[in-house]
Amino acid sequence: MSELREGLVAYSPTRVSAALLRDEKGWALSVRRSVIVRDDDALYAPVIAVLDEHCTNELSSETETDEGMMFGRAVRSRWRVWAECPDEPHDCATLLIPTAREGTEVVAIDRAAVN
Ligand SMILES: [Zn+2]
Repeated sequence: MSELREGLVAYSPTRVSAALLRDEKGWALSVRRSVIVRDDDALYAPVIAVLDEHCTNELSSETETDEGMMFGRAVRSRWRVWAECPDEPHDCATLLIPTAREGTEVVAIDRAAVN
């Protein structure tokens, strides 16, 4: 698990705005993204990374009119995020295989084999 730090996780005007916040119950991840931004979009990758690396629980997710976002519609979601595996039902980072990040590794090309 990477360390949780308060502040912006991802930001791109009219596309994605995501932040980690502290509230009375602990950490929360608040995300607003244009409906054109898909799960595998590079702009959304930092959000996926937080969700993959930590125990989380989705609190809400709604699509709503948002003039500040591309195409005027945004998905607004909120997750509870734990720094340590909590003793309550959640999506556990220790069980999940981070499939969303598959294919993003840098592949080293063996020049000798290509030439
Ligand atoms: Zn857990």
